[in-house]
Amino acid sequence: MPFTVGESIRTERVNFCPTCGGKLDAVAIVGEEATVLPETGDWTVCLSCGTVLRFNKDLSLRLATKRECKRQPPEVTEAVEKVAILNKLPKIPPKWY
Ligand SMILES: [Zn+2]
Repeated sequence: MPFTVGESIRTERVNFCPTCGGKLDAVAIVGEEATVLPETGDWTVCLSCGTVLRFNKDLSLRLATKRECKRQPPEVTEAVEKVAILNKLPKIPPKWY
């Protein structure tokens, strides 16, 4: 299955990554079975640090457990790898430089 990422959608709830504190206020649809908006148990990956997270019932986020990560969907693994690559790229300076 090709790795696809849809349009980014802003979420009503603002979360912060429990690992790096990064603000998480949007999601992008990944994979064929992804729903339009996050639901309980959906997976997400912090774009700042690559931490694998899951949505709680109230759409807050929690760290995925080690047991869950062993069975994570391939799309999640691929997203983690892509975040790692993106974070190694040099940062593009603002256009006014
Ligand atoms: Zn993070």
